[in-house]
Amino acid sequence: MSAFLKQVLGYTSDAIDAGKYLLKGLSVTFDHMRRRPITVQYPYEKLIPSERYRGRIHYEFDKCIACEVCVRVCPINLPVVDWVMNKETKKKELRNYSIDFGVCIFCGNCVEYCPTNCLSMTEEYELSAFDRHSLNFDNVALGRLPTSVTTDPAVQPLRELAYLPVGKIDPHGVASDQPRAGHLPSDLLNGLQKEAPLEKKSDVELSDGENLKG
Ligand code: SF4
Ligand code: SF4
Repeated sequence: MSAFLKQVLGYTSDAIDAGKYLLKGLSVTFDHMRRRPITVQYPYEKLIPSERYRGRIHYEFDKCIACEVCVRVCPINLPVVDWVMNKETKKKELRNYSIDFGVCIFCGNCVEYCPTNCLSMTEEYELSAFDRHSLNFDNVALGRLPTSVTTDPAVQPLRELAYLPVGKIDPHGVASDQPRAGHLPSDLLNGLQKEAPLEKKSDVELSDGENLKG
């Protein structure tokens, strides 16, 4: 009899557990049923890329010194720097510069190490093409600045999830001056500068301790 009772109790507790799991699953479903769909109506709406977005590279021909540092730091030696040596001036003369965005992995190494800062990453991400060879940009194409999502009159800019205030998940109708969940690089820098005196203090204490030991 007691074995039978145990079996009944076991079944009952399993049934209660199953009911709990079912309700948990349904609570997620009901929660999502209350929300609006977050569908970006591309190309009429576009998300604003994040501040350090690594999009298509911009290049300034006049600033380039043809040093080829960008080629050496590129993991696939991608930039093509076409130059000739002027025998009279004994200086390099830049003829052409190109990057093939069909191959580029947008790592940003070339931008990071260029000594004259003539390379920069833009927020342009629309690089689809019918022919991949058309993605080989020469210095003229690289010198073109993209239209910003926020200034394009034909586009409704939407804030990316990181730009939304805490608790908001729908980028539609959020005012641009509302505080966002993420931190701006300037905020992070200020925070680091506030922490810096503490670090210096601990360094001083450490060096004092070392002196005492000595
Ligand atoms: S590193 Fe900069 S300056 Fe040097 S070749 Fe490349 S783009 Fe030009
Ligand atoms: S972003 Fe990276 S892969 Fe692309 S050209 Fe620069 S270094 Fe090379």
